[in-house]
Amino acid sequence: MQEIRVELAKTLKDKPVDESKLGFGQVFTDYMFVMEYTAGQGWHDPVIKPYGPISISPAAMCLHYGQEVFEGMKAYRADDGRVLLFRPEENFKRLNRSNKRMCIPPIDEELALCSLKKLVDLDRDWIPKAKDSSLYIRPFIIATEGKLGVKSSDSYLFIILLSPSGPYYASGLDPVKIYVESSYVRAVRGGTGEAKTGGNYASALIAQEEAHEQDYAQVLWLDGVERKYIEEVGAMNIFFVIDGEVVTPALNGSILPGITRKSTIELLQSWGQKVSERRISIQEIADAYDAGKLTECFGTGTAAVISPVGELKWQDKVMPIGGGQIGAISQKLYDTLTGIQWGRLDGPAGWSVD
Ligand code: PMP
Repeated sequence: MQEIRVELAKTLKDKPVDESKLGFGQVFTDYMFVMEYTAGQGWHDPVIKPYGPISISPAAMCLHYGQEVFEGMKAYRADDGRVLLFRPEENFKRLNRSNKRMCIPPIDEELALCSLKKLVDLDRDWIPKAKDSSLYIRPFIIATEGKLGVKSSDSYLFIILLSPSGPYYASGLDPVKIYVESSYVRAVRGGTGEAKTGGNYASALIAQEEAHEQDYAQVLWLDGVERKYIEEVGAMNIFFVIDGEVVTPALNGSILPGITRKSTIELLQSWGQKVSERRISIQEIADAYDAGKLTECFGTGTAAVISPVGELKWQDKVMPIGGGQIGAISQKLYDTLTGIQWGRLDGPAGWSVD
């Protein structure tokens, strides 16, 4: 494995005094990880250096054609002082799957994890101490070749940033209102929906803004062809409890395969709970709601872990779910996943990495 050089900062920044005001992704730590790719040479010169601006050509391909990928994960401070990562290998595996789709050369997953651990260790004093807060981790790769021809770049930068972030829920799990999007679409099979690439998020902004105007927190996407089948939420996968059975859309080629989704399915199965990954139409959800069989709905993702859905709106139909209460399955999943992430509970082997 290549040696990871460390350039120490001459002075360190002041850390946020009031952790309750951290919010999300606004403050960055003292250091970042950077590695370059050059055609003919491959990935080279991994370095941890002081956080700061980077210099790229204004013709860099990522700026014009969106050749870029990213990941999102967290480091958690356990009560006994250990710093824990949650299934980080899964994030680097997914990064490489996104790379493949976006014609970006694969990274060495072992080197990436080793670099991340070294970076987090150097910045460990930035991991917030307040309950349920964490250090958000943003690995990303951008195409840097300065040419305007449309092709895959000859050079790239792989960077990892760290950002102390506050608790997602200020006071316990809080149900969100979700708007089922019937006009815009996020992805189609064969497109880039399965990859974590910026363009998916840029093209979703307009629907998100329109949903916000109607006081809905996020959008639930339907399939891009018939606009009938449920896909996922803005930055979460989606689950329903219908007549005691947990169902979630099958990974069909246009949905991002969430690591919280995978962990949720594995946990539910370990509890003997039946989970079906299959095609689910929005009409089926509306029918289950009308029949009084839709008892829970929740999103899964790194940011909120489990996000109970308290209301779905599909066209003119408003469907309140759970009567303002948190469903038993949502609560148990949240308590178990966060318990494992913060080291309060033992999870399956390899889920908590220090
Ligand atoms: N779908 C989308 C579109 C997302 O951006 C995310 C967040 N990464 C997820 C689902 C959930 O994925 P994960 O559980 O790995 O955070």
